[in-house]
Amino acid sequence: MNGKKELKLFEPYEVGDLVVFLTGEDSANVIDADCRWELQTTTTGCNCCTYRFRSRLDKDFKCRHMKALLEVLKAY
Ligand SMILES: [Zn+2]
Repeated sequence: MNGKKELKLFEPYEVGDLVVFLTGEDSANVIDADCRWELQTTTTGCNCCTYRFRSRLDKDFKCRHMKALLEVLKAY
């Protein structure tokens, strides 16, 4: 009972123009308005094009899907 809201799996959480469905403690399916498929996002990686490209140059890169997931995990 620390006043935090309970985080539920497979419930849609809206973060900006993204919708995050948690699938585990540090993973989610993310729906992007610009994207045709659900992204598999974790706190350490994402299968979107932006992450795949940018992470080759910067291994600490976080795409907006990862940031959205971190936001949801932090907020609850
Ligand atoms: Zn991404």
